[in-house]
Amino acid sequence: MPLATPHYLIDEAALARNLVIVDRLRAASGAKCLLALKCFATWSTFPQIAPHMDGTTSSSLHELKLGREKFGGETHAYSVAWSDGEIDEAVANADKIIFNSVSQLERFGEKAAHLPVGLRVNPGVSHSHFDLADPARPFSRLGESDRTKVEGVMDRVSGFMLHCNCENDSVTAFSDLLNTIETRIGDLLARLDWVSLGGGIHFTKPGYDVDGLAARLKAFADKFGVQVYLEPGDAVVTDTTTLEVSVLDIVENGKAVAIVDSAVEAHMLDLLVYRESGSVAPDEGPHRYQIAGKSCLAGDIFGEFAFPQPLAIGDRISLLNAGGYTMVKKNWFNGVAMPGIAIRRTNGTVELIKSFDYADYVASLS
Ligand SMILES: *Cc1c(COP(=O)(O)O)cnc(C)c1O
Repeated sequence: MPLATPHYLIDEAALARNLVIVDRLRAASGAKCLLALKCFATWSTFPQIAPHMDGTTSSSLHELKLGREKFGGETHAYSVAWSDGEIDEAVANADKIIFNSVSQLERFGEKAAHLPVGLRVNPGVSHSHFDLADPARPFSRLGESDRTKVEGVMDRVSGFMLHCNCENDSVTAFSDLLNTIETRIGDLLARLDWVSLGGGIHFTKPGYDVDGLAARLKAFADKFGVQVYLEPGDAVVTDTTTLEVSVLDIVENGKAVAIVDSAVEAHMLDLLVYRESGSVAPDEGPHRYQIAGKSCLAGDIFGEFAFPQPLAIGDRISLLNAGGYTMVKKNWFNGVAMPGIAIRRTNGTVELIKSFDYADYVASLS
């Protein structure tokens, strides 16, 4: 019996393929790789991922504690802003703490005096196709951008975090960005022990020049005498996971529309946020359908795809690339049934590791 839909299906073999590349990059560059939990935090997979990475990085106290508890290795604590109520627990669970501004460093630095302390610095340059995700957009709050202020705290920090990339699939573009950063703040980098270059590098994409990236990272580390960290999220889980759905109804209104037992806003939110289309494979054949969700949102559309046969009610569809920024964002909009989470083991068996029901929906509100 195939598993009931909807569910996210994580493929261990695909994850292993990405992790081989992570290992190659770590070995060739000397950089340490921390999983960015804001992208992917499905902790049942951590036993497979953790041996190929050096630890985790976080964007909140919850992520920090999850990394410490379920992943192990080196646990970096970062948050855009720590609150008075969080800081003690953050410090207690962190191997390094990274403040987002000089004012946060001044407010909480004392509490973290026994830890390596880092500062997120915003060098004012970035590579991003989306304004929404561009850390160097005007008036950005992501990292300290006042060089004079940074200079004033250099004796209190041992590292910087510089997260300037989003879906960068070009070593040349990455290297050019690093050149600009070196020109702007190289004198400061030379005074540090470690530098995290953040995430957003698509080094697991087919055809990516992994050796070129490794060489560039190594040159950077050697030039400034620093331990380099990367914080990949999407690169670790790209093309490892599908959202498995079933056709519930087919309606016609100028186009054939297949309604499935899922909803974009609830289960693949980023398609709406970034105005992108989902994808299926092979997306070939004479029969075209708009695949739409069952929520009451008019624009609840996964995309328009081609199929070899006409679709029928009950047919299964696999929506691709549902690993990063999906399970961490799922929500109960419209009360749509929450997809379960399943893993396809390397021996081919599919194991349901988590399911959600009405009680979870009730528990999510009060
Ligand atoms: C989002 C983010 C990451 C992970 O980015 P990916 O694009 O998923 O690799 C890493 N570090 C920081 C600081 C981030 O904000």
